[in-house]
Amino acid sequence: MTSHKSIDWQFSGSEAAKEAAAASLGSYTSALYARCDPLGKPILPPRNKSLETSNTAEKAVVKAVLCGTGNAYAPSIGLPVAKSAVAKYLNRNLPEKLTADDVFMTVGCKQAIELAVDILAKPKANVLLPSPGFPWDVVRAIYKNLEVRNYDFLRQKNYEIDFESVRAAADENTFAIFIINPHNPNGNYYTEAHLKQLAELARELGIMVVSDEVFRWTVFGSNPFVPMGKFSSIVPVVTLGSISKGWDVPGWRTGWVALHDLGGVFKSTKVLNAAKEFLEINSKPATVIQAAIPDILEKTPKEFFDKRGSFLKDKVDFAYSKLKDIPCLTCYMKPEACTFLWTELNLSCLDIEDDEDFCEKLATEENLVLLPGIAFSLKNWARHSIDMDTPTLEDAFERLKSFCERHSIKGESASLTNGNGVN
Ligand SMILES: *Cc1c(COP(=O)(O)O)cnc(C)c1O
Repeated sequence: MTSHKSIDWQFSGSEAAKEAAAASLGSYTSALYARCDPLGKPILPPRNKSLETSNTAEKAVVKAVLCGTGNAYAPSIGLPVAKSAVAKYLNRNLPEKLTADDVFMTVGCKQAIELAVDILAKPKANVLLPSPGFPWDVVRAIYKNLEVRNYDFLRQKNYEIDFESVRAAADENTFAIFIINPHNPNGNYYTEAHLKQLAELARELGIMVVSDEVFRWTVFGSNPFVPMGKFSSIVPVVTLGSISKGWDVPGWRTGWVALHDLGGVFKSTKVLNAAKEFLEINSKPATVIQAAIPDILEKTPKEFFDKRGSFLKDKVDFAYSKLKDIPCLTCYMKPEACTFLWTELNLSCLDIEDDEDFCEKLATEENLVLLPGIAFSLKNWARHSIDMDTPTLEDAFERLKSFCERHSIKGESASLTNGNGVN
């Protein structure tokens, strides 16, 4: 056996992404799944389960494979047919129309976020991000050394954006406010009037609005979904999207960025060029999926989304009712979109230190994975997935209930009487 110990290797791994990686959802998720016992109860939510998508989307990809339309390299900014199809789709709700030139194809919505952060970064710049919010924005901002400032929500107003907190956070170095609509993890989406107010505020502050609309097909509330692009005559808007959540195909890694240019401001501020240059040096979504995008967007029947929406609504209703039996967890709003419940932990009635401690012990003791609020920049909350069949969901909530009972502080039951978990 040769010993390699005495050799002084000249290379070592970079730590450039270390801090950013620690803030990613993937890091939290893998650490919690690693605590589960593979020989114990079934691990929930099941990992790597196969997802079902629309038959139209499947056929569109098969067609692209058989016809060879997606075999070549695509241009770095995206396959022209995909760009036109996205523009046409988004235009359905827009007074100011996009053209194919305003749309760029990306590797899922995650790369769309990267692009939005990277092309805008400048020294001393800061961005306004929601708290709670999807962690990828934060991850990329950390990686780019961009200052992050958080804004809040009004829980008594169904998690509308707290405009006062936006105003307080913004200064002359702020260049954008990122919104998530529908919002993961709050589970709401914004009314037309609210978005218009946001557009006016952003105009006053001289900043653009970047709107992550990846969950726009996963809504089951009574209001229609309104895209931010509708207000692009008031303020410059960047819309981010992908087929990941709406079609349940996150593995297909295909998304987009749409620049709703207000009077050519993106051109004159070189944002448009920066987007092209970013895409020139980064990886692209597989051409074969891009080639399928026109059929996926145009031909998927409305029933597909309606069915998914009513499935999720049913699960939300069920899960929300189960929370009534679990004091110590408070859900302030029954979700109307996305696939989660978002609850606050009332730690005063538990022998638990914080949200991370809660989620770690829950994974260890019950093989059940909830994500801690801190992963979404809000400590002592938790996000519960509800995207599973009813018996599985019932099992998950039974385990959560017995976990909370086991960890509740004895003699404190009086304080639990009106904390019925649901508000
Ligand atoms: C899942 C998610 C993304 C990432 O989307 P991909 O298309 O899978 O890259 C972005 N933003 C939000 C709010 C999400 O929930």
